[in-house]
Amino acid sequence: MSMQTTETRAANEPVLQVENLQTAFFTDKEVIRAVDGISFDIDEGETVGIVGESGSGKSVTARSIMGLVDSPGRILDGSSIKFNGEELVGKSERDYRKLRGSGIAMIFQDPLTSLNPVYTVGNQIKEALRLHQGLTGQAATQKAIELLEDVSIPDARRRVSEYPHQFSGGMRQRAVIAMALACDPELLICDEPTTALDVTIQAQILELLQDIQDERGLSIMFITHDMGVIAEIADRVNVMYAGEMIEKAPVRELFDNPKHPYTEGLLQSIPGMHPGEERLRTIEGDVPTPNEPAEYCRFAPRCPKAFDACDAVHPVNVNVGRESTEHTAACLLYPEDMSREDAVETHRARDATAELTDPTEGDE
Ligand code: ADP
Ligand code: MG
Repeated sequence: MSMQTTETRAANEPVLQVENLQTAFFTDKEVIRAVDGISFDIDEGETVGIVGESGSGKSVTARSIMGLVDSPGRILDGSSIKFNGEELVGKSERDYRKLRGSGIAMIFQDPLTSLNPVYTVGNQIKEALRLHQGLTGQAATQKAIELLEDVSIPDARRRVSEYPHQFSGGMRQRAVIAMALACDPELLICDEPTTALDVTIQAQILELLQDIQDERGLSIMFITHDMGVIAEIADRVNVMYAGEMIEKAPVRELFDNPKHPYTEGLLQSIPGMHPGEERLRTIEGDVPTPNEPAEYCRFAPRCPKAFDACDAVHPVNVNVGRESTEHTAACLLYPEDMSREDAVETHRARDATAELTDPTEGDE
Protein backbone atom coordinates (compact mmCIF):
# COMPACT_ATOMS: atom_id res chain seq x y z
CA MET A 1 0.00 0.00 0.00
CA SER A 2 1.43 3.36 -0.97
CA MET A 3 1.99 5.77 1.89
CA GLN A 4 0.48 8.71 0.09
CA THR A 5 -2.90 7.21 -0.71
CA THR A 6 -5.84 8.96 0.77
CA GLU A 7 -7.87 5.78 0.32
CA THR A 8 -6.66 4.44 3.67
CA ARG A 9 -8.08 7.45 5.48
CA ALA A 10 -11.75 7.37 6.35
CA ALA A 11 -13.84 10.47 5.67
CA ASN A 12 -13.44 13.07 8.43
CA GLU A 13 -10.44 11.27 9.81
CA PRO A 14 -7.52 13.61 10.45
CA VAL A 15 -4.65 13.67 7.94
CA LEU A 16 -2.21 13.44 10.85
CA GLN A 17 -2.91 11.84 14.22
CA VAL A 18 -0.20 11.97 16.86
CA GLU A 19 -0.83 10.05 20.04
CA ASN A 20 1.34 9.86 23.14
CA LEU A 21 4.45 10.71 21.12
CA GLN A 22 7.57 10.38 23.20
CA THR A 23 10.99 11.13 21.75
CA ALA A 24 13.99 11.00 24.06
CA PHE A 25 17.73 11.58 23.67
CA PHE A 26 19.84 9.07 25.55
CA THR A 27 23.04 11.02 26.23
CA ASP A 28 25.92 9.78 28.42
CA LYS A 29 24.79 12.12 31.16
CA GLU A 30 21.01 11.96 31.12
CA VAL A 31 17.81 11.09 29.28
CA ILE A 32 16.31 14.21 27.70
CA ARG A 33 12.57 13.73 27.21
CA ALA A 34 12.41 16.30 24.43
CA VAL A 35 8.90 15.24 23.45
CA ASP A 36 7.11 13.75 26.41
CA GLY A 37 3.76 12.21 25.62
CA ILE A 38 2.08 14.68 23.27
CA SER A 39 -1.14 14.11 21.32
CA PHE A 40 -2.68 16.27 18.60
CA ASP A 41 -4.15 15.98 15.14
CA ILE A 42 -4.43 17.92 11.89
CA ASP A 43 -7.47 17.83 9.59
CA GLU A 44 -7.47 18.14 5.84
CA GLY A 45 -6.92 21.74 4.70
CA GLU A 46 -6.31 22.92 8.24
CA THR A 47 -3.41 24.86 9.77
CA VAL A 48 -2.44 23.67 13.21
CA GLY A 49 0.00 25.83 15.14
CA ILE A 50 2.59 24.59 17.60
CA VAL A 51 3.87 27.41 19.74
CA GLY A 52 6.33 27.63 22.61
CA GLU A 53 9.64 29.15 23.58
CA SER A 54 12.94 27.85 22.29
CA GLY A 55 13.77 24.43 23.72
CA SER A 56 10.18 23.31 24.24
CA GLY A 57 10.41 20.38 21.79
CA LYS A 58 8.77 21.81 18.66
CA SER A 59 11.52 20.85 16.22
CA VAL A 60 11.94 17.39 17.73
CA THR A 61 8.18 16.91 17.23
CA ALA A 62 8.53 17.83 13.55
CA ARG A 63 11.59 15.63 13.06
CA SER A 64 9.82 12.72 14.77
CA ILE A 65 6.97 12.96 12.25
CA MET A 66 9.46 13.14 9.36
CA GLY A 67 11.46 10.15 10.61
CA LEU A 68 14.50 12.38 11.07
CA VAL A 69 15.38 11.83 14.73
CA ASP A 70 19.11 11.23 14.98
CA SER A 71 21.00 9.12 17.48
CA PRO A 72 21.13 9.34 20.50
CA GLY A 73 17.44 10.17 20.03
CA ARG A 74 14.66 7.63 19.64
CA ILE A 75 10.88 7.51 19.45
CA LEU A 76 9.79 5.41 22.43
CA ASP A 77 7.42 2.44 22.49
CA GLY A 78 3.81 3.42 22.96
CA SER A 79 4.13 6.40 20.59
CA SER A 80 1.89 6.64 17.55
CA ILE A 81 2.02 8.89 14.48
CA LYS A 82 -0.63 8.12 11.89
CA PHE A 83 -0.58 9.74 8.47
CA ASN A 84 -3.78 9.08 6.52
CA GLY A 85 -4.54 6.32 8.99
CA GLU A 86 -1.23 4.56 8.48
CA GLU A 87 1.21 4.10 11.37
CA LEU A 88 4.59 5.75 10.73
CA VAL A 89 6.40 4.77 13.92
CA GLY A 90 8.62 1.81 13.12
CA LYS A 91 8.67 2.38 9.33
CA SER A 92 11.91 1.63 7.51
CA GLU A 93 14.14 4.47 6.28
CA ARG A 94 13.18 3.46 2.73
CA ASP A 95 9.47 3.95 3.44
CA TYR A 96 10.19 7.23 5.17
CA ARG A 97 12.13 8.46 2.16
CA LYS A 98 9.13 7.71 -0.02
CA LEU A 99 6.88 9.55 2.41
CA ARG A 100 9.14 12.61 2.55
CA GLY A 101 9.08 12.75 -1.20
CA SER A 102 5.34 12.69 -1.54
CA GLY A 103 2.98 12.78 1.42
CA ILE A 104 4.76 15.10 3.83
CA ALA A 105 7.18 17.93 3.09
CA MET A 106 9.03 20.13 5.54
CA ILE A 107 10.34 23.68 5.43
CA PHE A 108 13.01 24.73 7.89
CA GLN A 109 13.77 28.07 9.51
CA ASP A 110 16.91 28.68 7.51
CA PRO A 111 16.27 28.23 3.78
CA LEU A 112 19.99 27.69 3.24
CA THR A 113 19.77 24.32 5.01
CA SER A 114 17.37 23.18 2.29
CA LEU A 115 19.18 24.72 -0.69
CA ASN A 116 22.49 23.52 -2.05
CA PRO A 117 24.72 26.52 -2.89
CA VAL A 118 26.45 24.79 -5.81
CA TYR A 119 23.30 24.05 -7.86
CA THR A 120 20.93 26.50 -9.48
CA VAL A 121 17.55 26.89 -7.84
CA GLY A 122 15.98 25.43 -10.99
CA ASN A 123 18.16 22.34 -10.95
CA GLN A 124 17.22 21.65 -7.35
CA ILE A 125 13.52 21.91 -8.09
CA LYS A 126 14.00 19.76 -11.19
CA GLU A 127 15.78 17.12 -9.11
CA ALA A 128 12.76 17.01 -6.78
CA LEU A 129 10.46 16.74 -9.81
CA ARG A 130 12.55 13.93 -11.29
CA LEU A 131 12.57 11.97 -8.03
CA HIS A 132 8.95 12.43 -7.12
CA GLN A 133 7.10 12.90 -10.37
CA GLY A 134 9.47 11.34 -12.90
CA LEU A 135 9.68 14.60 -14.87
CA THR A 136 12.88 15.34 -16.82
CA GLY A 137 14.21 17.66 -19.52
CA GLN A 138 12.08 20.43 -20.96
CA ALA A 139 8.95 19.29 -19.12
CA ALA A 140 10.78 19.54 -15.79
CA THR A 141 12.19 22.99 -16.62
CA GLN A 142 8.72 24.19 -17.57
CA LYS A 143 7.24 22.79 -14.34
CA ALA A 144 10.05 24.35 -12.26
CA ILE A 145 9.26 27.75 -13.78
CA GLU A 146 5.56 27.25 -13.02
CA LEU A 147 6.36 26.36 -9.41
CA LEU A 148 8.48 29.51 -9.03
CA GLU A 149 5.55 31.46 -10.45
CA ASP A 150 3.20 29.70 -8.01
CA VAL A 151 5.27 31.08 -5.13
CA SER A 152 5.26 34.55 -6.78
CA ILE A 153 8.92 34.77 -7.69
CA PRO A 154 9.03 37.51 -10.32
CA ASP A 155 10.78 36.83 -13.61
CA ALA A 156 10.75 33.09 -12.91
CA ARG A 157 11.99 32.16 -16.39
CA ARG A 158 15.29 33.95 -15.73
CA ARG A 159 15.60 33.19 -12.02
CA VAL A 160 15.21 29.45 -12.53
CA SER A 161 18.85 29.35 -13.66
CA GLU A 162 20.22 31.46 -10.81
CA TYR A 163 22.02 30.20 -7.71
CA PRO A 164 20.65 30.48 -4.14
CA HIS A 165 23.11 33.27 -3.23
CA GLN A 166 21.57 35.41 -5.96
CA PHE A 167 18.22 35.25 -4.11
CA SER A 168 17.26 37.46 -1.15
CA GLY A 169 16.20 35.77 2.11
CA GLY A 170 12.50 36.02 1.31
CA MET A 171 12.97 34.80 -2.26
CA ARG A 172 15.05 31.87 -1.01
CA GLN A 173 12.28 30.83 1.36
CA ARG A 174 9.84 31.07 -1.58
CA ALA A 175 12.16 28.82 -3.61
CA VAL A 176 12.23 26.31 -0.73
CA ILE A 177 8.44 26.34 -0.66
CA ALA A 178 8.45 25.71 -4.43
CA MET A 179 10.75 22.73 -3.86
CA ALA A 180 8.43 21.35 -1.20
CA LEU A 181 5.48 21.74 -3.59
CA ALA A 182 7.38 19.80 -6.26
CA CYS A 183 6.57 16.71 -4.17
CA ASP A 184 2.87 17.61 -4.23
CA PRO A 185 2.54 16.96 -0.47
CA GLU A 186 -0.69 16.62 1.50
CA LEU A 187 0.92 17.87 4.70
CA LEU A 188 3.44 20.68 4.91
CA ILE A 189 5.41 21.03 8.13
CA CYS A 190 6.81 24.54 8.56
CA ASP A 191 9.41 24.87 11.32
CA GLU A 192 9.74 28.61 12.05
CA PRO A 193 9.85 29.39 8.31
CA THR A 194 9.64 33.14 8.82
CA THR A 195 11.73 33.62 11.95
CA ALA A 196 14.85 34.71 10.05
CA LEU A 197 12.92 37.19 7.89
CA ASP A 198 11.96 40.79 8.56
CA VAL A 199 8.31 41.46 9.37
CA THR A 200 7.23 42.67 5.92
CA ILE A 201 8.70 39.64 4.18
CA GLN A 202 7.32 37.42 6.95
CA ALA A 203 3.81 38.69 6.29
CA GLN A 204 4.22 38.00 2.57
CA ILE A 205 5.36 34.42 3.18
CA LEU A 206 2.43 33.77 5.54
CA GLU A 207 0.06 35.09 2.90
CA LEU A 208 1.70 32.93 0.26
CA LEU A 209 1.32 29.81 2.42
CA GLN A 210 -2.36 30.58 2.91
CA ASP A 211 -2.91 31.07 -0.82
CA ILE A 212 -1.17 27.78 -1.59
CA GLN A 213 -3.23 26.06 1.08
CA ASP A 214 -6.49 27.39 -0.38
CA GLU A 215 -5.53 26.27 -3.87
CA ARG A 216 -4.29 22.83 -2.96
CA GLY A 217 -6.29 21.89 0.14
CA LEU A 218 -2.97 21.43 1.91
CA SER A 219 -2.76 20.64 5.63
CA ILE A 220 -0.16 22.71 7.46
CA MET A 221 1.62 22.15 10.75
CA PHE A 222 3.08 25.52 11.64
CA ILE A 223 5.78 25.80 14.30
CA THR A 224 6.69 29.17 15.78
CA HIS A 225 7.69 30.82 19.05
CA ASP A 226 5.68 33.89 18.01
CA MET A 227 2.07 34.24 19.19
CA GLY A 228 1.57 37.06 16.69
CA VAL A 229 2.32 34.66 13.83
CA ILE A 230 -0.01 32.06 15.36
CA ALA A 231 -2.82 34.62 15.36
CA GLU A 232 -2.25 35.21 11.64
CA ILE A 233 -2.10 31.67 10.42
CA ALA A 234 -3.45 28.96 12.74
CA ASP A 235 -6.92 27.42 12.94
CA ARG A 236 -6.12 25.45 16.07
CA VAL A 237 -3.20 25.86 18.43
CA ASN A 238 -1.13 23.58 20.65
CA VAL A 239 1.02 25.32 23.24
CA MET A 240 4.18 23.39 24.04
CA TYR A 241 6.35 23.61 27.13
CA ALA A 242 9.32 21.40 28.07
CA GLY A 243 8.19 18.49 25.92
CA GLU A 244 4.50 18.65 26.78
CA MET A 245 1.42 20.20 25.22
CA ILE A 246 0.02 22.26 28.05
CA GLU A 247 -2.89 24.00 26.31
CA LYS A 248 -4.89 23.28 23.15
CA ALA A 249 -7.65 25.37 21.64
CA PRO A 250 -9.11 26.83 18.46
CA VAL A 251 -7.15 30.02 17.77
CA ARG A 252 -9.84 32.57 18.73
CA GLU A 253 -10.67 30.70 21.90
CA LEU A 254 -7.00 30.62 22.88
CA PHE A 255 -6.57 34.37 22.43
CA ASP A 256 -9.91 35.34 24.00
CA ASN A 257 -9.83 32.90 26.85
CA PRO A 258 -6.31 31.65 27.63
CA LYS A 259 -6.27 29.31 30.61
CA HIS A 260 -2.77 28.08 31.29
CA PRO A 261 -0.59 30.67 33.09
CA TYR A 262 2.14 29.92 30.53
CA THR A 263 -0.16 30.79 27.64
CA GLU A 264 -1.16 33.98 29.45
CA GLY A 265 2.53 34.82 29.78
CA LEU A 266 3.15 34.19 26.08
CA LEU A 267 0.22 36.39 25.12
CA GLN A 268 1.41 39.20 27.36
CA SER A 269 4.78 39.20 25.68
CA ILE A 270 3.36 39.97 22.23
CA PRO A 271 4.60 43.44 21.26
CA GLY A 272 1.78 45.98 21.18
CA MET A 273 -0.52 44.07 23.54
CA HIS A 274 -0.02 46.60 26.30
CA PRO A 275 0.10 50.07 24.79
CA GLY A 276 1.70 52.63 27.05
CA GLU A 277 4.04 50.14 28.63
CA GLU A 278 7.65 50.75 27.85
CA ARG A 279 9.03 47.29 28.28
CA LEU A 280 7.80 44.08 26.79
CA ARG A 281 6.49 41.80 29.49
CA THR A 282 8.20 38.45 29.30
CA ILE A 283 8.09 35.36 31.42
CA GLU A 284 11.17 35.30 33.60
CA GLY A 285 13.54 32.34 33.36
CA ASP A 286 14.03 29.66 30.72
CA VAL A 287 12.42 26.44 29.60
CA PRO A 288 13.99 23.67 31.72
CA THR A 289 15.60 20.67 30.02
CA PRO A 290 13.10 17.83 30.54
CA ASN A 291 15.65 15.38 31.94
CA GLU A 292 13.47 13.68 34.52
CA PRO A 293 10.00 12.12 34.33
CA ALA A 294 7.18 14.65 34.51
CA GLU A 295 5.99 13.96 38.04
CA TYR A 296 5.23 17.61 38.68
CA CYS A 297 4.42 20.73 36.65
CA ARG A 298 7.51 21.71 34.65
CA PHE A 299 6.27 25.31 34.47
CA ALA A 300 5.79 25.66 38.25
CA PRO A 301 9.20 27.29 38.94
CA ARG A 302 8.26 30.18 36.61
CA CYS A 303 4.54 30.26 37.29
CA PRO A 304 3.04 33.28 39.08
CA LYS A 305 0.06 31.14 40.17
CA ALA A 306 1.95 28.05 41.39
CA PHE A 307 0.98 26.49 44.72
CA ASP A 308 2.36 23.56 46.76
CA ALA A 309 0.77 20.71 44.79
CA CYS A 310 2.36 21.95 41.54
CA ASP A 311 5.70 20.51 42.69
CA ALA A 312 4.20 17.12 43.49
CA VAL A 313 1.42 16.37 41.01
CA HIS A 314 1.74 16.14 37.24
CA PRO A 315 -1.08 18.07 35.55
CA VAL A 316 -2.91 16.35 32.67
CA ASN A 317 -4.99 18.05 29.98
CA VAL A 318 -8.52 18.72 31.28
CA ASN A 319 -11.43 20.40 29.56
CA VAL A 320 -11.48 24.17 30.16
CA GLY A 321 -13.62 25.38 27.26
CA ARG A 322 -16.64 27.59 27.70
CA GLU A 323 -18.48 25.99 24.82
CA SER A 324 -15.77 24.22 22.91
CA THR A 325 -14.85 20.74 24.09
CA GLU A 326 -11.68 21.27 22.10
CA HIS A 327 -10.12 23.55 24.68
CA THR A 328 -7.93 21.82 27.25
CA ALA A 329 -5.22 22.90 29.66
CA ALA A 330 -2.78 20.88 31.75
CA CYS A 331 -2.83 22.91 34.94
CA LEU A 332 -3.89 22.07 38.49
CA LEU A 333 -6.03 25.24 38.63
CA TYR A 334 -8.60 23.39 36.49
CA PRO A 335 -11.35 22.24 36.26
CA GLU A 336 -12.38 25.64 37.60
CA ASP A 337 -15.73 24.47 38.95
CA MET A 338 -14.04 22.09 41.42
CA SER A 339 -12.47 22.87 44.74
CA ARG A 340 -8.71 23.08 44.51
CA GLU A 341 -8.32 19.78 46.42
CA ASP A 342 -10.71 17.96 44.08
CA ALA A 343 -9.03 19.41 41.01
CA VAL A 344 -5.60 18.29 42.20
CA GLU A 345 -7.02 14.84 42.96
CA THR A 346 -8.47 14.63 39.45
CA HIS A 347 -5.05 15.28 37.94
CA ARG A 348 -3.33 12.87 40.30
CA ALA A 349 -5.76 10.05 39.50
CA ARG A 350 -5.70 10.59 35.73
CA ASP A 351 -1.93 10.84 35.63
CA ALA A 352 -1.57 7.61 37.61
CA THR A 353 -3.63 5.66 35.05
CA ALA A 354 -1.81 7.27 32.12
CA GLU A 355 1.70 6.45 33.29
CA LEU A 356 1.80 2.94 34.63
CA THR A 357 5.14 2.23 32.99
CA ASP A 358 8.12 4.43 32.24
CA PRO A 359 9.04 3.73 28.62
CA THR A 360 12.62 4.93 29.07
CA GLU A 361 13.27 2.15 31.59
CA GLY A 362 15.82 -0.42 30.54
CA ASP A 363 17.32 1.96 28.01
CA GLU A 364 20.01 3.54 30.15
P1 ADP B 1 12.43 23.91 19.96
O1 ADP B 1 12.39 23.54 18.52
O2 ADP B 1 11.09 24.03 20.60
O3 ADP B 1 13.26 25.14 20.21
P2 ADP B 1 13.86 21.42 20.19
O4 ADP B 1 12.81 20.50 19.71
O5 ADP B 1 14.93 21.76 19.24
O6 ADP B 1 13.18 22.74 20.77
O7 ADP B 1 14.59 20.80 21.48
C1 ADP B 1 13.85 20.25 22.56
C2 ADP B 1 14.83 19.67 23.59
O8 ADP B 1 15.50 18.57 23.01
C3 ADP B 1 15.89 20.63 24.07
O9 ADP B 1 16.04 20.46 25.47
C4 ADP B 1 17.11 20.19 23.33
O10 ADP B 1 18.26 20.46 24.09
C5 ADP B 1 16.89 18.69 23.19
N1 ADP B 1 17.57 18.14 22.00
C6 ADP B 1 17.27 18.40 20.70
N2 ADP B 1 18.08 17.73 19.86
C7 ADP B 1 18.94 17.03 20.66
C8 ADP B 1 20.06 16.14 20.41
N3 ADP B 1 20.44 15.84 19.17
N4 ADP B 1 20.68 15.61 21.49
C9 ADP B 1 20.30 15.92 22.75
N5 ADP B 1 19.27 16.75 23.04
C10 ADP B 1 18.61 17.30 22.03
MG1 MG C 1 13.13 24.55 16.87
